[in-house]
Amino acid sequence: MTAFWTEPDFDDHEMVHVVRDRASGLMAIIAVHSSHLGPGAGGTRFWHYPNPKDGLRDALRLSRGMSYKNAMAGLPMGGGKAVILADDTRTKTPELLAAFGDAVEGLGGRYVTAEDVGISEADMVAVSKRTAHVSGLPVSGENAAGGDPGPFTSYGIYLGIKAAVQHKLGTDNMAGVHVAVQGTGSVGGGVARLLAKDGARLTLADIHADGVKALAEELGAEVAAPDAILTTPCDVLSPNALGAILDDDSIAGLQTQIVAGGANNQLARAGHGKVLFERGILYAPDYVINAGGIISVATEYLGRRDGKPGTVDDVNALIEQIPGRLTQIWQTSDAGGTSPDIVADRMAQELIGRG
Ligand code: NAD
Repeated sequence: MTAFWTEPDFDDHEMVHVVRDRASGLMAIIAVHSSHLGPGAGGTRFWHYPNPKDGLRDALRLSRGMSYKNAMAGLPMGGGKAVILADDTRTKTPELLAAFGDAVEGLGGRYVTAEDVGISEADMVAVSKRTAHVSGLPVSGENAAGGDPGPFTSYGIYLGIKAAVQHKLGTDNMAGVHVAVQGTGSVGGGVARLLAKDGARLTLADIHADGVKALAEELGAEVAAPDAILTTPCDVLSPNALGAILDDDSIAGLQTQIVAGGANNQLARAGHGKVLFERGILYAPDYVINAGGIISVATEYLGRRDGKPGTVDDVNALIEQIPGRLTQIWQTSDAGGTSPDIVADRMAQELIGRG
């Protein structure tokens, strides 16, 4: 393993912990970027990296992202992330998950884990047998916080889209506002359903043709081909599939006034926020608008830790602060001539004591 502090993605991370358990084959990296606001919280990714250095980069980059996301969501949590370096057979055994749980427990609560790519709720239940510093577990009762974060993420994005329409188009009436949704999975499908109830005009795209056709029929929406959605003339483009979709070429082809969706890391490079701004397209910083899921996960964890179980109402009350935070970012952006992604980064850095 390379010296992590020489990596370009190293940003004064407080802790980078390498875990090796020969017996189970576990090889993992747990990174805590900042614990200024609370324990470093963020999911565990299970992925086969042909070069382990890429796993280190993911842990560094994603844990910093979680510091920003948790701070901007108003959560008493810092930023962390774990990466389990899967072998080329991608074998995930009970012994490996147990060893990972022991490693998290050994950090004494400095890092709190949950699901991410390649890790299921059942995996987190297995990890929870070895450590209490875990979230994303099955819901414990009616109205209890927790469970699938997807619907909470969708709710925050729906509210964020409405705030963007108010800010850019000057209306709180979504009837007839044309939203193009890229990706109609857990998050994008939920966003589309909420917008349909308000009478928005929807164009949907997904690489799963059957699923998107069925949803479009249910909601009275149109369907666009996956390679046509980014150039669909619309009022709002809502990316809810992949990251890095906004680059020089795609931004030049956009025919929208607003980009507001849940996909993580939508800007291919940091400078693309400025390119959008210069084109007059209002951008909702992804980690601010898509925080509904982590709000649910954190409320579940903090409730269990403090013996005061959180409720869905608690989660929704925090999610309902997302539109106000976005509006504050856009107003600062308008006043100072700085793109919203940079405004959001500066606000987050202030909140974690690195302004
Ligand atoms: P998902 O797998 O349920 O849905 C993603 C959908 O995108 C799938 O239906 C897939 O077929 C589609 N897709 C993939 N490539 C596409 C393409 N080129 N064009 C059109 N559609 C394409 O995942 P999800 O949980 O809905 O997450 C969506 C995005 O939101 C991801 O970027 C994820 O990191 C981010 N996110 C999710 C959550 C959450 O709570 N689930 C929270 C924050 C951020």
